[in-house]
Amino acid sequence: MSESSPAVSTNFIQNIINEDFKNNKYGGRVHTRFPPEPNGYLHIGHAKSICLNFGLAAQNKGICNLRFDDTNPSKEEVEYVESIKADVRWLGFDWDDRLFYASDYFEQLYAFAVQLIRIGKAYVCDLSAQEIREYRGTLTEPGRESPYSNRSVEENLDLFARMRAGEFADGSRVLRAKIDMASPNLNLRDPVLYRILRATHHRTEDKWCIYPMYDYAHPISDALEGITHSICTLEFEDHRPLYDWILETLNFDPRPQQIEFARLELTHTVMSKRKLRELVEQKHVSGWDDPRMPTISGLRRRGYTPEAIRDFCERIGVAKSNSVVDIALLEHCIREDLNFRAPRVMAVLRPLKVVLVNYPEGQVEEVEAENNPENPAMGIRRLPFSRELYIEQDDFCEIPPKKFFRLSPGKEVRLKHAYIIKCVGVVKDEQTGEIKEVHCTYDPETRSGGAASKRKVKGTLHWISAAHAIPAEIRLYDHLFNSESTMEEEVEAETEDTSFKALLNLQSLEKLTSGIVEGSLAGAIPGKRYQFLRQGYFCVDTVDTTAQRLVFNRIVPLRDTWAKIQQKQARA
Ligand code: ATP
Ligand code: MG
Repeated sequence: MSESSPAVSTNFIQNIINEDFKNNKYGGRVHTRFPPEPNGYLHIGHAKSICLNFGLAAQNKGICNLRFDDTNPSKEEVEYVESIKADVRWLGFDWDDRLFYASDYFEQLYAFAVQLIRIGKAYVCDLSAQEIREYRGTLTEPGRESPYSNRSVEENLDLFARMRAGEFADGSRVLRAKIDMASPNLNLRDPVLYRILRATHHRTEDKWCIYPMYDYAHPISDALEGITHSICTLEFEDHRPLYDWILETLNFDPRPQQIEFARLELTHTVMSKRKLRELVEQKHVSGWDDPRMPTISGLRRRGYTPEAIRDFCERIGVAKSNSVVDIALLEHCIREDLNFRAPRVMAVLRPLKVVLVNYPEGQVEEVEAENNPENPAMGIRRLPFSRELYIEQDDFCEIPPKKFFRLSPGKEVRLKHAYIIKCVGVVKDEQTGEIKEVHCTYDPETRSGGAASKRKVKGTLHWISAAHAIPAEIRLYDHLFNSESTMEEEVEAETEDTSFKALLNLQSLEKLTSGIVEGSLAGAIPGKRYQFLRQGYFCVDTVDTTAQRLVFNRIVPLRDTWAKIQQKQARA
């Protein structure tokens, strides 16, 4: 973690670690791991887990491994592995030389399974998946013993070896732990440890036709790596007795301990990789890195900084009960970060031409503009000013409503960093009546910085000299989902549709193809972030920007709804 990482965060997991230090449980060691399954791109929920695992290691002088939980073979894994590594690094974390794959342990996992068979703690079962479910019982009824649970050790060893050798069809047999079919915990009712599956694995290729189950592979992988605190999300709480059973039965010492925390859920979005993959595959978004996606790659492309994401993860904290975080908090974090860092520039999203009828034709002067009023060290730049300018279409209104402080016939406004102007007429398209130009006079005495510039006018507009404007495509985003919650039950209640996709916001992307930006943005570097005055924070798109064409993504508008929510709560 970088030097700028926040001070020690306290949470219930840190408290457990403090206790462990006191009791010398792991000889003062803290060793965590982040264990993604390479079946999709990482999302902001994973960022929470990454910050927690790498963060706890760092603040306790420990280490954190990156381990791919690749026990479930699937074909795109290589692409996913590479994206996950890039995302973890981009977030600012480093696993040094501790990059592992659960598949590295296949041979050892197999040997441990043989050991379980030898001590009578595992057996080969010929029940079908359906029968295994039926025999398992329910929360209120105990399960029934498999008719195969009393096979001899010799027979089990022979059958398991032949499972590995490929003698049996996929799904025809499994290896199960022999624990307790009457346990109140369903996970302890002789859980499956190995299944037969002929699938090519991204690392071991066709070497194996049996694959270990997550619940079996995970504790052993942790133990083999010397993990002390195995942090996972709450849905694994009921699996913890199995985690412990496997490590105790195999006599690991010391044993890592599993600790569960609440997973991150965000309003207006979905967080499961399965659902995100569906959005990508069915082309509801342009890809995993679509700037509307809650993936790390989507947030990065949108313009989020690693600092803002880490700050967000710090602020949401770590708890033991599930809750949903308002996406406005994430947006607040990027505003806070960029407020100080992002240069201010002028961009006009929907241009309307203004002609200053008393300004000399052909004259160009330069006015001074500060690059960031919050951070004077960022200096100033000069902007060309001339007779023809562009302002925002909605900064002009021919018949203004009450309290419209922008430009309208007979009214004055200030042009930021330049002059006060007054509207003296409009030019319309004869056929359509559409306003083509607004005619104004400028007051030469009111140049910014001069004494007369202090004169009171209500509105200040951003603008760009027409001859110096650079065309740009500007993309505005809204939430990917209309409703706050995307939980399936609620979707069903609201739409009589069972798919979360019924709640997709069909207006989540607006492409403004006739935008313009000030000349200083010529050749702006993809990935660079700016504040467009009055319009929000924007980032040069890293995918679609070319030498000929600038494309900007709006990261967030300026209006901070999170700050508003906080103020309201403070008043209440
Ligand atoms: P998903 O349900 O989105 O597919 P997953 O849990 O299957 O997620 P993994 O690749 O197995 O994804 O997750 C790697 C690690 O990230 C796990 O330790 C998991 O607990 C954690 N994680 C996943 N989703 C979240 C989340 N929303 N909030 C916090 N941690 C998460
Ligand atoms: Mg998973």
